[in-house]
Amino acid sequence: MKWGPPRARLSADEREAVYKTACGGDPFPICNICFQPIRAERKWVISHMPTPRALDGTVTGIAHKKCNDLRWRTIEAPMVAKAKSQYKTARDIKASSRNPLPGGKDDPLRRKKKVTGEVIDRDTGKPWGDRR
Ligand SMILES: [Zn+2]
Repeated sequence: MKWGPPRARLSADEREAVYKTACGGDPFPICNICFQPIRAERKWVISHMPTPRALDGTVTGIAHKKCNDLRWRTIEAPMVAKAKSQYKTARDIKASSRNPLPGGKDDPLRRKKKVTGEVIDRDTGKPWGDRR
């Protein structure tokens, strides 16, 4: 499942401009996840810290690729999954269960199990199996 518009692939010149902006006068830019300098020979990516891009976060700086990947795996992916799930549940978008609970509201046989343990027909209120 894709979320949002495709990620723009930056040219070398665009990446250099982003890098220079992030440096802001210092020799190396600061990772906005671990707050350590992104030194030479380290991979970096554009970061949306603290709101992930999948949740409409905006670009807030650059981060080590390792920091960003770790943050995605451990924090953001579960957070995004939960947020999407809650969105769907709240708006009744989620499909009902493939295996509905017998006697539950989605039971295809229209049974209803009462607190007493008695199983009745949801439509008629008569005991289940008593179809005369
Ligand atoms: Zn970092």
